[in-house]
Amino acid sequence: NFNDSKGFYKCIIGDHIFYRYEILKILGRGAFGQVILCKDHKIYNSQVAIKIIRNRKKLYNQGKIEIEILKYIKSCGKGSNKNIVEIYHSFNFRGHLCIVFELLGPNLFDIIKQNHFRGLNIQFVKEVANQLLKSMNILSKEKIIHCDIKPENVLIKNVKKNNEIKLIDFGSSCFENNTIYTYIQSRFYRSPEVILGMKYGLPIDIWSLGCLLVELFTGLPLFPGESEQEQLLLIMQVIGVPSKEFIQKGTRSKYFFNDDYSPIIFPNSRGLLHKPSSKKLCSILHLPSDSLFLHFVSSCLEWEPEKRITPENALKHIWFKFHEKSQ
Ligand code: ATP
Ligand code: MG
Ligand code: MG
Repeated sequence: NFNDSKGFYKCIIGDHIFYRYEILKILGRGAFGQVILCKDHKIYNSQVAIKIIRNRKKLYNQGKIEIEILKYIKSCGKGSNKNIVEIYHSFNFRGHLCIVFELLGPNLFDIIKQNHFRGLNIQFVKEVANQLLKSMNILSKEKIIHCDIKPENVLIKNVKKNNEIKLIDFGSSCFENNTIYTYIQSRFYRSPEVILGMKYGLPIDIWSLGCLLVELFTGLPLFPGESEQEQLLLIMQVIGVPSKEFIQKGTRSKYFFNDDYSPIIFPNSRGLLHKPSSKKLCSILHLPSDSLFLHFVSSCLEWEPEKRITPENALKHIWFKFHEKSQ
């Protein structure tokens, strides 16, 4: 038996998988399986990252979708999508779906942690934003929603002193015309339309991007909700309450709003009350109210998905035109 009780493949350093890849190290472990560092014995001196999916039917099927989407992106990009992780190939091994990827470096959460959660400089944040938007612009053109943009799913590849920012983990992705799941996105980065159970589309990724960029800059998650209820309260604390028309569109709004459309406010586990509009984004960022970065992230954090900036317009935002010292 090659699996543990939870369906994880039992990885042993030095073992080979598929007669080709020698296991060197475990790089990451998630709900879907493990990602391992391997030496590729078919290509001299090369290393790859292999995602070994747990042998569970549902995860296997999701892995199939991840492969389909990554291959599709690769086929339509013709080299222009260097900000999306490259898939090399995939195979079945001892009942596990395995996906072979180009080897990348640390993820953005590792970087934030290495920096002791004190936040990174604005030039780095801008570089991440710019490169991530290039990947999101490609997804947007192909009508693919990533559905799980967060620091752990953005990796850095160091190429001769230059950072290449790469989006990974298409395990929850879907085409915009085929949104089957309602329970998507990691809670801190979950968009209002997903929380409230509305129709959703490409703008949910822009919401997550806004949350991610603030977190990179401050070192702490912008909306660290312990529950979906608290998640929405934390959002309202910063961007105010949504309109009645917006609330009416949600199939789950009754869990968050009273009959008169006022938010249901309750203390969290530490007895804290989050009052709507009681926190300002400029105070969270410690930036003046005319800061270009503040303006940029505010345009990602709009209630209405239609009002949120698109990747194409975001790439043209004036924040990217100036090289600032502190803002
Ligand atoms: P989750 O359970 O959070 O959805 P996941 O199990 O779907 O995650 P990934 O996000 O694809 O798996 O990978 C998990 C972790 O493994 C990543 O956060 C990253 O740190 C590491 N990793 C993934 N792909 C690579 C790669 N190509 N090179 C280096 N490290 C990688
Ligand atoms: Mg992941
Ligand atoms: Mg995933």
